[in-house]
This record gives sequence, C-alpha cells and structure tokens, in this order.
Amino acid sequence: MYVVGVTGGIGSGKTTVTNLFQTHGIDVVDADVIARSIFQPGSDALLHVQERFGDRALLETGELNRAWLRERVFTHPEDKAWLNQLTHPLIREQILAALKQAQSPYVILSAPLLVENKLTALCDRVLVVDVTEAMQIERTRQRDDVSAQQVSAIMQAQASRIERLQAADDVLDNNGTPEALVEPVERLHRFYLQQVEQQLQ
Ligand code: ATP
Repeated sequence: MYVVGVTGGIGSGKTTVTNLFQTHGIDVVDADVIARSIFQPGSDALLHVQERFGDRALLETGELNRAWLRERVFTHPEDKAWLNQLTHPLIREQILAALKQAQSPYVILSAPLLVENKLTALCDRVLVVDVTEAMQIERTRQRDDVSAQQVSAIMQAQASRIERLQAADDVLDNNGTPEALVEPVERLHRFYLQQVEQQLQ
C-alpha cells in the first residue's frame, strides 16, 4: 500500500486539501479521528485512564473528560509521557489497520502531528500543507472562535513551520484561495499515481 502522509499545523488546510484528494477517489485515514476513537466507553484505554486518575477523568456519562485530561497533561509532563505511552501504540495499530483497508490506488494518512509523532515512518511520501503563521491564526480564529493567544499556544506545542517543511517531500502552498488548490492537487494526484505505477514495476 502506497501511503501519502498529509500534514500541516492547526488551521493550515489539511481537511480542505484531503477533501480535494477524495474527489479523485482517494481514501483518507484521519489520525485525529482514530485518536479520538480509542477512548470509546468500555475500551481498555479508557479503563487505564480511570485507574490512574480516578473518576475526575470521566464525564458523568462515563465518557472521557477530554478537556480535563488535556489540561492535566499540559501541566503534568509525567502524565503526558504516560498517556503517550498508552495511546501511541494503540493509535499506530489502528492507523495501520485502516490503511490496509483502503481500496484506492494510494491512501492518504492525514495527521496534524505526523512529524512530531514519527508517523512519517508509515509514509512513502510526505505532503506538507504550508501557510504563513499569520494565516494559520486568522483562519483558525474564524473557524473556531478562539483568541489569537489560544491558537499561538497550540502552535507552540506543534512542530515549527521550518521543522515540518524539512520533513516534506512535497509542499502545497495554501496562502491563496481554496480554488487555487485544485490544480496543484490534481498535479500531485497524477504524480502519486505515477509513483504507485513505478513501485509496481
Ligand atoms: P485543523 O488541524 O486545525 O483541524 P486543518 O489543517 O484541517 O485544521 P482546515 O479545517 O482545512 O484546516 O482549514 C482551516 C480553516 O480555514 C477552515 O475553516 C477552512 O474552511 C479555511 N480554509 C482552508 N483553506 C482556505 C483557503 N485557501 N482560503 C480560505 N479559507 C481556507
């Protein structure tokens, strides 16, 4: 299976870009969706979290209290390390299973933290959706109704623009209009199809 990793910082346009690849019939595996799904009620992961932190880590409904856990790991690095050790292998395993199920000629793995979490190891090719930091802040604020400081704090916890670009095989500039993405995506799609062909030969 030929895997194209798509990454970019918060609000860079990963979803916008992967939606365009989907119009070419390409399957997309979203690491964020998988990461959220491992804490389903009754899951081993949720049980482990409850054992460590008690009921304060759960909502009254029994679901994971994501806001509490996010705050906890933000202020307790040892808990962050513990949580990563619990979740990363599970997420990786489920990503691999989802990639294997893909039916398209190649498959996209979309992950905001592709570089940070070394998911690049699962990819044949890495495509970075690149925008200026000012644009990231502006678009995220428009979408999520958050402050510039909140967006900046999230950006601080992610790889820098430079670090991400260093991991890139291909770069898609998303500083322009959404329409300006159509042609470059089409070009990349044809290029990836060629790569798949070559791999088969
Ligand atoms: P996140 O990782 O934060 O979920 P993302 O990288 O998936 O974000 P999108 O959700 O695709 O990014 O884009 C962020 C916001 O910017 C969305 O509201 C989207 O509609 C908008 N957007 C994306 N690309 C453009 C563009 N070229 N011009 C204007 N708005 C855009």
